[in-house]
Amino acid sequence: MSAATHCPYCALQCAMTLEPTPGERLPVSVAGRDFPTNRGGLCRKGWTSAELLGRGDRLTTPLMRRPDGSLGEASWEEALDRIAAEVVRLRAESGPDAIGVFGGGGLTNEKAYQLGKFARIGFGTRLIDYNGRFCMSSAAAAANRAFGLDRGLPFPLADLDTAEAILVLGSNMGDTMPPFVQHLQGARGRGGLVVVDPRRSTTARLTEDGAGIHVQPVPGTDLALLLGIAHVIVAEGLVDESYVADRTVGLAALKRSVSPWWPARTAEVTGVPAEQIRAVAHLLAGARSAYVLTGRGVEQHADGTDTATAAINVALLLGLVGREGSGYGTLTGQGNGQGGREHGQKSDQLPGYRKITDPAARAHVARVWGVDPASIPGPGLPAVQLLERCGADGGVRALFVHGSNVVVSAPDVSRVRSALGRLDLLVVSDFFLSETAELADIVLPVLQWAEEEGTMTNLEGRVIRRRRAAEPPAGARSELWILAELTRRLGAPGTWSTDPSEVFDELARASAGGLSDYSGLSHALLDTGVAAHWPYPAGSAGTPHLFRERFAHDDGRARLVAVRARRPETPRGSEMSLITGRLLGHYQSGAQTRRVGELNDLAPRLVAQIHPATAGDRGIAAGSRIRLANARGSVEADVELSPDIRADTVFLPFHYAGSESANILTSARTDPHSSMPEFKNAVVTVTPA
Ligand code: SF4
Repeated sequence: MSAATHCPYCALQCAMTLEPTPGERLPVSVAGRDFPTNRGGLCRKGWTSAELLGRGDRLTTPLMRRPDGSLGEASWEEALDRIAAEVVRLRAESGPDAIGVFGGGGLTNEKAYQLGKFARIGFGTRLIDYNGRFCMSSAAAAANRAFGLDRGLPFPLADLDTAEAILVLGSNMGDTMPPFVQHLQGARGRGGLVVVDPRRSTTARLTEDGAGIHVQPVPGTDLALLLGIAHVIVAEGLVDESYVADRTVGLAALKRSVSPWWPARTAEVTGVPAEQIRAVAHLLAGARSAYVLTGRGVEQHADGTDTATAAINVALLLGLVGREGSGYGTLTGQGNGQGGREHGQKSDQLPGYRKITDPAARAHVARVWGVDPASIPGPGLPAVQLLERCGADGGVRALFVHGSNVVVSAPDVSRVRSALGRLDLLVVSDFFLSETAELADIVLPVLQWAEEEGTMTNLEGRVIRRRRAAEPPAGARSELWILAELTRRLGAPGTWSTDPSEVFDELARASAGGLSDYSGLSHALLDTGVAAHWPYPAGSAGTPHLFRERFAHDDGRARLVAVRARRPETPRGSEMSLITGRLLGHYQSGAQTRRVGELNDLAPRLVAQIHPATAGDRGIAAGSRIRLANARGSVEADVELSPDIRADTVFLPFHYAGSESANILTSARTDPHSSMPEFKNAVVTVTPA
């Protein structure tokens, strides 16, 4: 029977239909399905996604480290008994916080919820966080600060279609989520698309031929650029005075904070011409409907929260947020980056986007879980700090990794690899032997995408159904089953269903009354095809548009938050700025897409993009190899010469592993508000290899 489901990869969660193909090499065929976000379109990753189901290197049995250092097959009984025995031993020796859990933004809502509950009740540890910390945390912190609530897009994506102007900061959706581009056509047709990116990316090229403006700042100066745009809005009388008076607080301090950023000074810092800064401000202010959208390019910095805040300030000054046909949004990256940060995988959070430090939240969730509120541990550590604690004195001795490939995706990966090597026990649940799984003491084979039932929450905050279309390999198990088996062995209290529909019902009860309230939803209701944007309290019809009447702060007003630009880490002498990003053919750490031949053929190895003038100065020829290095390490890459990048900047994709990992070079320095690492601004030397 065909299954109406969604793509396994990014947060656009394009709708697709999977048809069984008995006797064929792959168990299903893929067809795009009409849906408001993708309208039948898929990118190459989506079209080729069934390849993941037919791979010969799929994990089909637990693996355990043998005395000779190799990984050997084991039964589920052996693997789970060994895990339980080790957890009991380590907890007795070092306490529950000797155990850490690292989750993923690709897990279904049901798995993310159960993992957060399991860490706190099954292991009793406060140490759980997830790879969404590397993805959405700065935008989330900024939205929580400004609006009192974090939902990536507070409006349906299709609203963008009629925009006169759209400012895109630090997103290359033309490569990362191509079906998204159709929603930019309206603004392009009116000359109103503005793309801010140090590279002339696929998305930046959409501004050509009169479709808009490409703004190409010095890496790390996005915050200064946004302060400069806000300065023009204030100084040139473009503020929506009645909106700001009625719906926000903080204007006076904000005005003071942007006053030093007149266009000429902003131009000096950012490299963006003063006239272009003014043009962007006037374009947005003059449009009857306008949107400001941010992505990882401006958020993955040590000042990422303040940069996203500055983008929100621009939108608030112009009266865009909550106005029909206008708004601010951030473009979630991972498939369930939105739902994954709502139901308890974050170190400071309980289901329903509740604060773990809130006594009322703890009491509510404890009732649902059937435990004493006092037994729920307090806040843990965010991802970078959690990984740093691995193998440290008095730190984490056992780490459980679910749906994450941290030795490729974390910043400063050489240190992460060393830290994992010092653990007593590393357990990785995955469906392929990822680079992180290769290091594990125990590997547990789990179900993937088309083999499981569940829900995801896309970049619009729309809850959607993932449906089973193919039989999993006989030896693979769902995480829900694994967690239930471990709680039985550990004697943990509460109920631990293995049925995704029942787990969703429990999640819905736990979220009731929280910011991300799912209490009116169920698998059965979602199967009717309702447009389910949260909050969706029982008895409601959901919330496609947020902030129309009020913001989520107690007084109903948004916060204009004054922020200050810092000096970015800047290259000296012959050094260059390094920026990283994604390619059309790959997704995140590449653990899946590097296994799809058609995708891997598009980009089989690491290629650095540099400007021809820079290459000429350094004696670097097209197609040659270069070495990029800094204090954290070095990588070698092939060279692509392109005038599309600034002459002071080099670009590396981050999908590759081992000695080709761009994250050997990135910094683990984090944002003070969000704990987001500074992926997007490193300094490197570049020399012929
Ligand atoms: Fe759609 Fe993203 Fe899948 Fe591409 S990877 S088909 S854009 S969900």
